[in-house]
Amino acid sequence: MDTLSLLTSLRDIVGAAHVLCDGDLSAWEQDWRKRARGKALAVVRPGSTAEVAATVKACAAAGISLVPQGGNTGLVGGSTPDGSGRQIVLSLQRMNTVRALDAANLTMTVDAGCVLQTLQETAEKAGFLFPLSLAAEGSCTIGGNLASNAGGTQVLRYGNARDLCLGLEVITPQGDIWEGLSGLRKDNTGYDLRDLFVGSEGTLGIITAATLKLYPLPAAQLTAWAAVPSMDQAVTLLGLAHRHLGAGLTGFEVMGQFALSLVAKHFGQLRVPLYQDTPFCVLLENSDHESEAHAREQFERLLELALEQGCVTDAVVAENLAQAHQLWHIRESIPLAQAEEGLNIKHDISIAVSRIPEFVEVTDAILQQALPGVRLVNFGHLGDGNLHYNVQAPEGGDAAAFLREQEERVNALVYDSVAQFGGSISAEHGVGSLKLDKLEQHKSPVALNMMRAIKQALDPQNLMNPGRVVRV
Ligand code: FAD
Repeated sequence: MDTLSLLTSLRDIVGAAHVLCDGDLSAWEQDWRKRARGKALAVVRPGSTAEVAATVKACAAAGISLVPQGGNTGLVGGSTPDGSGRQIVLSLQRMNTVRALDAANLTMTVDAGCVLQTLQETAEKAGFLFPLSLAAEGSCTIGGNLASNAGGTQVLRYGNARDLCLGLEVITPQGDIWEGLSGLRKDNTGYDLRDLFVGSEGTLGIITAATLKLYPLPAAQLTAWAAVPSMDQAVTLLGLAHRHLGAGLTGFEVMGQFALSLVAKHFGQLRVPLYQDTPFCVLLENSDHESEAHAREQFERLLELALEQGCVTDAVVAENLAQAHQLWHIRESIPLAQAEEGLNIKHDISIAVSRIPEFVEVTDAILQQALPGVRLVNFGHLGDGNLHYNVQAPEGGDAAAFLREQEERVNALVYDSVAQFGGSISAEHGVGSLKLDKLEQHKSPVALNMMRAIKQALDPQNLMNPGRVVRV
């Protein structure tokens, strides 16, 4: 089938209004970081599972590859087309219905294009918590969250997107519908197909719906902000918080002084507390099923102990929800403040929590020695051993030139150090096209061979998001 006939078929399947070929398609063709810009043959916006299946079948018959897309907030260049003008962007955004909420089973079944924040709100209205939470939640979709196995701020208590998913509906690369929308918590009937698709970044099939876990809404959620004298002491505080808050500990974020100084510089209205005289601040969240008074009492006891032991030098507990939101807003503004400061080199790494202080000390020194004056924007989900360890050009330097000339070298230094510490070069953002080469350098040949075998078995025509995650 030639491309003109394919476009005619696609218009028949989803309606002419939902096959976009002309005009400004940058919302679908350019990634969130504005580092990847492609050209699509068309952006196709199906409205149902049957339409997705028919679209995939038509593309398979024409030998045209597909790039699934949700909110296009991914950070590894995985959701935009290449520059060939021969790929179809398959946007799931029109599929945004909550299909069912099963209160007794603590689950909800939703279309893949539902925006994460809408799902959090739907759950809350029904008296439940859907705990996946990240700064892009107003735009990202649950399909994209699952395809990239997103993490976010509550992983240490509830797990990442994979842990919150009980079942999937998937369109295979041949256009068949795999109906795996199970709400089962136990199902040992062979290979776990759901887990194959979670984190596959659109390279094995298209997620059209998911059954998700819900939790009871906590009676209170309290937020505290603490100044800590070192990364070592931040890890000590994490241990204390685990012991004293137990399952109540739902957030533990670390933020370096330079990262916070960028928020203060670029978003002065946010009033960053306690950061000026301390190398790190920590944001803690305590979710309590008894009452706010109980949560506050627990928090105050923990912080008193931490002050006594010297792992905290000063702390504040948010008085109300507005203050708590403001503290989280500061944390979530770090990536934006960094972007305001100029282009930078991002790393999303994980290391065993116990080894993070040594990793930071060693890697900071390696970078300072290799590139004197570089500025390190270090922050992240310390409770999960996940740091966003980003590198900014020296003060007053040309950020674009720094990125162009030093990115490869900086990446090599950071990823070699990550390997020395037994860590991962991608904790939560995935591989996409950005980390394809790096994955080949850092994953074992045995693991890579198994990944290629899975890709070739499920997608022998290599039509599902080719050139992402694994080369075949
Ligand atoms: P997209 O960007 O559209 O796609 C992401 C990948 O999934 C692509 O490979 C795409 O092809 C594939 N895909 C999308 N939908 C489907 C589908 N239905 N079926 C199959 N494949 C599909 N991530 C974290 O893990 N933790 C964070 O804390 C975090 N914070 C962020 C903060 C900001 C400000 C931003 C911009 C991003 C952040 N991210 C974070 C990145 C994160 O991966 C995405 O925000 C989100 O999970 C992607 O969802 P999306 O719908 O935008 O997917």
